[in-house]
Amino acid sequence: MKSLSQKQPWHPTALLMVLAVWLTTAGNLPLWLKVWQLPETQGFKALTTVGSLMLILLSMVSWLLLFLVWPKWLKPAGLVFMAVVTSSSYFMLTYNVVIDPSMIANVVQTDVREVRDLLSWRMLAALLLGVVLPGIWWWRQPVRQVKAKPLLLRQLGLFVLAWLMMFVFVWASFQDLASLMRNHTTLRYMANPFNSLYAVVRLSVGQASQAAKPLLPIGEDAKLLSAPASEKEAPLIVLVVGETVRAANFGLSGYARQTTPQLNQLKAQGDLVYFSDVSSCGTSTQTSLPCMFSHLGKTAYENSDQPYEGLLDVLQRAGLAVLWIDNQSGCKGVCSRIARFETQALKVPHLCQDGECFDEVMLQELPKQLALLDPVKRAKGTVVVLHQMGSHGPAYYKRSPEALKQFKPECKSSALQNCPVDQIVNGYDNSVLYADHFVSQTVKWLQAQPRPTALMYLSDHGESLGEKGLYLHGMPYRMAPREQTHVPMLAWVSKPMQQQRGWRMACLQAQADKPWSHDNLFHSMLDLSQVGTNLAKPELNIFAACAAAR
Ligand SMILES: [Zn+2]
Repeated sequence: MKSLSQKQPWHPTALLMVLAVWLTTAGNLPLWLKVWQLPETQGFKALTTVGSLMLILLSMVSWLLLFLVWPKWLKPAGLVFMAVVTSSSYFMLTYNVVIDPSMIANVVQTDVREVRDLLSWRMLAALLLGVVLPGIWWWRQPVRQVKAKPLLLRQLGLFVLAWLMMFVFVWASFQDLASLMRNHTTLRYMANPFNSLYAVVRLSVGQASQAAKPLLPIGEDAKLLSAPASEKEAPLIVLVVGETVRAANFGLSGYARQTTPQLNQLKAQGDLVYFSDVSSCGTSTQTSLPCMFSHLGKTAYENSDQPYEGLLDVLQRAGLAVLWIDNQSGCKGVCSRIARFETQALKVPHLCQDGECFDEVMLQELPKQLALLDPVKRAKGTVVVLHQMGSHGPAYYKRSPEALKQFKPECKSSALQNCPVDQIVNGYDNSVLYADHFVSQTVKWLQAQPRPTALMYLSDHGESLGEKGLYLHGMPYRMAPREQTHVPMLAWVSKPMQQQRGWRMACLQAQADKPWSHDNLFHSMLDLSQVGTNLAKPELNIFAACAAAR
């Protein structure tokens, strides 16, 4: 074999077409499996649909390769394409996600801790079968030297031919395919490598056009509505940004399991209100976080590529001391201009292990970090954001300490599909129990402070735990199931704060079951922090009814 292949080295374009066939077939396994299982493609129909889609995709992959890949970088380019389609296929098959711009943004923003959670034997096996073995074969193929001009003509000729073939195939099967694409919008996010390429290009164009624009200040008129006489009267407000907690598994929302026993007790004392119908702005940290802190609201935020300052800039401008403590993968730009502290380097015994800490480490760090803030500002009031590790998957079992776990056994694999659903849910529910513990501990700490205090808790997005075969989060919003967008939100207001503001919790309780969303955070936090600005919209402020009732 070896001597034969040495005698007959490949024409570079021929080898390129071998790559096209491999990428189209093996490189798109999740797509073909999905099309094969669609309800409208049964039996012989499945065969013809998969067949015509394969021909269309093959012509598309061919023109892409013929245009991009030239002999000089044929070998490395082949490996890159194999790696891209294999990793994208692995995530699509394992978690049933699709590859779109926000998913790629998540990948880019992911830190080492998150990658470690995702690694599994299954992933290594996928890389072996999709990259290493075909890669070795690919790298060892001898390639003929070809003159530049005939090669150029041949490759461009084939490029045009591939386009023509694509149009012919699409035309021939148009009726079938058009309805298929309309009914199953996820399919178009599954075609490798176009999904990844489209997402990367779309994302970089968006970021480039944002980066080219100067950051616009907002709320330049922001000022404190009342000046506290001393630090003892200055409010201390904590906003806990929850991570990946869905309302469906939150005890306070009426979940069959009591996953929020401590918060339930606080609610019974009458100072806590749980909001039962809250929608997130996005389905990932990367999309939700900047949107939550924006004055624009979801629709305007998504339609704007103009970078603006956010809520925390406005609070700071009004004269408050503002602090962000992060136990996640960063604040996605919303804390860029304020004091912040990241827990990553901490090595607190019992709380931190393998470069990762339980959320309580933020509470332990809080007094120290508060003391570092400007005392002049502190005397007017303080707003702290605690960004949780929360229920970040897929390693849910790592998100709760052993002593707190109530639901067993837990899924201990990162490839969630290897676990029975009830074990995945056990691990997840234990992480919600821990969030309950963390938020309640924060409230207890606030209760002990000799000043008016309040806390808001709001999760950034939900999570799929195997419903409809979906796992994790990050589905394009309009296709996302409710599990990924229905999030828990609550407000706790201390007695001194209620007195200072003249609020009765009953008026807030009356707001509990109205439909709210991330759009309300900006305006409610302005009110809670006593900051006045033209940006404030009373109709979006959850506390507005209480001020009116006073
Ligand atoms: Zn998140």
